[in-house]
Amino acid sequence: MARREAPAAGPGSRALVVDVIRSAVTISRGELVDLTGLTQPSISNIVRELIADGIIHEIGSLDSAHGRRRRLVAINPASRFGVGFHVGPETVTCVAVDLTGGVVGREVVPRAPDQALRADRLAELFEHFTTGLSLDPDRIEGLAVVAPDALPGGVRPGLVRRIGVPVLVDNDAAAAALGEFWSRRVSREQAFGCVYLGSEIGAGLVFGGALFRGAGFGAGAFGHLSIHDRGRPCPCGNRGCVQQYASMGATVLAARRNPALRDRLALDGSESSAYEAIARAAVNGDADAYAVLDEAAGRLGVAATSVVNLLDLGRLVLTGPGVALAGSIFARRLRTHLDRTAHSRRQHRVTVEISAQPRDAAGIGAAVLVIQASVAPGHTPGRTP
Ligand SMILES: [Zn+2]
Repeated sequence: MARREAPAAGPGSRALVVDVIRSAVTISRGELVDLTGLTQPSISNIVRELIADGIIHEIGSLDSAHGRRRRLVAINPASRFGVGFHVGPETVTCVAVDLTGGVVGREVVPRAPDQALRADRLAELFEHFTTGLSLDPDRIEGLAVVAPDALPGGVRPGLVRRIGVPVLVDNDAAAAALGEFWSRRVSREQAFGCVYLGSEIGAGLVFGGALFRGAGFGAGAFGHLSIHDRGRPCPCGNRGCVQQYASMGATVLAARRNPALRDRLALDGSESSAYEAIARAAVNGDADAYAVLDEAAGRLGVAATSVVNLLDLGRLVLTGPGVALAGSIFARRLRTHLDRTAHSRRQHRVTVEISAQPRDAAGIGAAVLVIQASVAPGHTPGRTP
């Protein structure tokens, strides 16, 4: 699809060119002219700069339909790396990615639930993780730390002082969406959304290659979409929030209300272990466990239709620990529901997919935030408290 509306080379042109190359995998300079709407001299200059910086490389030539030789360019994966930490209630997931979003290292470190998040501890972890991977420090573009809630004040400036690379902090669901967008090579033309199913339910939305942030970086509170005005009360102040019916915690509560299921699956442990037992049983033929998850998926589908209708999304990815084992139950229910209810269904299909790495998606996304800020700046200025 041509973007003829933006013909002048400006500060965003480099980001645009990187993004088009990323989603095309390999592309010629002539195709870049067609797809970006930039002039041939502008494309030549930007491509030359990107090659000099090591961000892209030439990958040989190909005979075109007209018999001419074409030089193709592609992202140069291993020239730079981003590091992401996803701080969960029980673990910190550390991930390093290359420029295409490919994972080059991963480690999960346990964390005591009451352990305060401190800059010195995260700095030690950064040192330990990057040294263990033997990543060239000059090629590490930065660290992003993501969590469901805001990090304590002072963590970011403390980290910047200690590790000497740029530090971003962000919301885990937003990061996961950008990670899926980048590593799936989704085109920036696509209205892309990602639902993150965990202890809470969040969403990330990517429009024109950039995360949509809202007025106060709060966009994507999917879990607080109400599906019933007289439904269950939610701590947010509203009633019927979908999180009260479809989050991992809500599913565990629903399963524990069935005494036989509760005993059969030994559901009295932690929320994450109980959820895992339910999901495993559901995909192995336990009808009661299946019914509990299918009910949660149905509620999630109602909220998904609202988001898809509001934003006319073309593609929705499900991710997070809640879809790690039983993602197929959620995907099936959402597909069926959207096929029947999405306002856009007569114009286009809404694709529903499951993340390839749902447990690591937020960590991968954090590392991709660093990559995007480094090679395609201007898209997503991270919140820097
Ligand atoms: Zn709520």
